[in-house]
Amino acid sequence: MKTAVSAVTGLSLESSLVDVPFISESLAAALLRGCKLATVADLLRHFPRRYEDRRSFTPIAQTLPTGFATISGKIVDVENVPTRSRMVLTKVSVRDDSGTAVLVFFNQWYLKKQIEKLTGQIIVAYGRVQRSTMGRGIELTDVEWEALGDKEETLSAGRIVPIYPAAEGISQNRFRKIMWSAVHDLVDLVVDNIPQKILDNRQLLSLRESFRQIHFPESDDERKSAERRFAFDQFFGLQLLLAAKRRTARKVAGISFNSVSEVVDELKSVLAFNLTDAQARVIKDVASDMAAPLPMNRLIQGDVGAGKTVVAVAAILIAVRNGYQASMMAPTEILAEQHYLTVHRLLEKLGIRVGLLTGSLGAREKADTLSAIETGDLDVVIGTHALIQKDVRFKKLGLAVVDEQHRFGVIQRAALRDKGAAPDILVMTATPIPRTLTLTVYGDLDVSIIDSLPPGRKPIKTHWKSPAERTAIYESVRKLLSEGRQVYFICPLILESDKLQARAATELALHLGKHVFPEYNVGLMHGQLKTSEKEETMELFRDKKLHILVSTTVIEVGIDIPNASVIVIEDADRFGLAQLHQLRGRVGRGSTQSYCILIADPKTADGRARMSILTTTSDGFLVAEEDLKLRGPGEFLGTRQSGIDLLPFVDILRDVPLLHDARDEAFALLADDPSLSRSENAPLKLDLIHRYKSMVDFVGTN
Ligand code: ADP
Ligand code: MG
Repeated sequence: MKTAVSAVTGLSLESSLVDVPFISESLAAALLRGCKLATVADLLRHFPRRYEDRRSFTPIAQTLPTGFATISGKIVDVENVPTRSRMVLTKVSVRDDSGTAVLVFFNQWYLKKQIEKLTGQIIVAYGRVQRSTMGRGIELTDVEWEALGDKEETLSAGRIVPIYPAAEGISQNRFRKIMWSAVHDLVDLVVDNIPQKILDNRQLLSLRESFRQIHFPESDDERKSAERRFAFDQFFGLQLLLAAKRRTARKVAGISFNSVSEVVDELKSVLAFNLTDAQARVIKDVASDMAAPLPMNRLIQGDVGAGKTVVAVAAILIAVRNGYQASMMAPTEILAEQHYLTVHRLLEKLGIRVGLLTGSLGAREKADTLSAIETGDLDVVIGTHALIQKDVRFKKLGLAVVDEQHRFGVIQRAALRDKGAAPDILVMTATPIPRTLTLTVYGDLDVSIIDSLPPGRKPIKTHWKSPAERTAIYESVRKLLSEGRQVYFICPLILESDKLQARAATELALHLGKHVFPEYNVGLMHGQLKTSEKEETMELFRDKKLHILVSTTVIEVGIDIPNASVIVIEDADRFGLAQLHQLRGRVGRGSTQSYCILIADPKTADGRARMSILTTTSDGFLVAEEDLKLRGPGEFLGTRQSGIDLLPFVDILRDVPLLHDARDEAFALLADDPSLSRSENAPLKLDLIHRYKSMVDFVGTN
């Protein structure tokens, strides 16, 4: 390992903060406890949360008691004043050419001594301006100050001042001093990870300069340049990983499936409907991937109800007709069960054996299923996460389908792939990922989009009602029930626990069944039920024995019961936009007019925005983009989806062009130096290994 070690201090970026001369042992402990900072690199990368422009001093006479101001003047007096409530106020009088201001500190009696020594000197102070409680003049409270004295640089005033995330026991002032020293004494340890050529190409700031400017910007432009550099860094790293993955995937010999178009015709012969043009096009993409000798890595995007399942079935049939097994993984048991029913019903006509594997099978059933998978008695297995457990051994896995990808991460995809010798992978998602993010999250996949709905679908009518209108809502629901429709009621979202959530659903079901719709059968669905109970309930609802299904969000994804055409969502403003769109997607799956009723009385502008977006559009892509604007990319890129933690100043919508630049550079670089073995790329390789640890295995495997 080559990492820069300073000849003077013996420090490197990996050195513990304890070893840094200007950091005491107790401070190092506080930095670790309060901010999880352990090494020099951690410290440098501890970016400000925001900045305050304190460059210009306001003449004291012109400060207004409306906010904060930076002043500069001579210390003329210091006194400690006891208050009735046994506090001590330290009052420091500061005078400039225009007048005098009093800085007020609460309960810091020891300051008096410290400041007295500075009497007559010029200080710079930043604080909240208030009219003096003692007659005329102004006071500053919440003060941050610094004596100008012999020091040339002021850190807390007279500049664009960094504000760090709050940490117990470390004041902002202290933080700035630490960072100032870090930026001066430690930044030389930094070796630029990005090759000079790319820096020049993209006009990026050097890494050292970026650290200086991100902590103590000389101007807004310099700060922005630094942010741009760090954002590029992050995109570049991720795109390199994706590029490397893609290269590796391209090198593995995959299965070359035969007679793909005959198989698609065979499927068409058992379908109850004609494929839409969009479905036919996407199936063609999939079939030609499968015919090719490379492993397929394809993502199918399609809004809720677009008809993705049949694309999966086509792929499954191709695999099976070529003598391979296929698996299909879903995020919930209910959904796995539903897929099992769909796929089983379609394929049994063609003599294909389909099995179901979920975590809650009985021991006996599970053992039987596992052995049927291993002997090859089962051609197709549908399941949940249970499919990627160690005890699942396929005889000859040729295809792995992952449905509703947003619940799975990159890691699970890899685990699935490992179940076979380079099986084809097909991922399906109901598009909560806006187009702008696809590159970041799915940069290693080829993408096909199902961009139209099956014919005869009427757009769902979405209404936003206030809780006061409940009686009227119930009456319109009753009318629809009397026409033979089935209805979902989604109970309010309770985040505290699944148990409480289950109780809320139970109460709502009791209430509706007893007091509101006594003439109809009301079913109940929540996460605490046993699998057999869930199965039974879904079956009863599917068979129209139940008219109303009260549920928690367990039915959020995938559930497909075309006769259910009304969904009522209680306390709708508690749900996120993408989640509401998913829930709404449970209806509108047949040719009858469907309705979604949002009951909400949002208290925030954000809540109202979510409700009105839903009433105006039913396009999942639009909903997702709006969601991104409202919530920022955190949810989309959070650990849950991808293990990516975006830097606070990265704005994925604004930074799309930068992302594309980073992607181009990353792909070009790897084409040129696939294992990053050239000396000019060594710092980059080290940095990747350091930052992405195990994810980076494949760099350098060629
Ligand atoms: P999703 O894309 O949300 O997974 P599904 O695959 O569950 O959608 O399909 C939604 C519904 O549309 C199902 O009831 C399915 O049988 C039906 N469907 C799918 N494709 C067509 C088609 N081409 N014509 C008519 N109905 C279709
Ligand atoms: Mg689906």
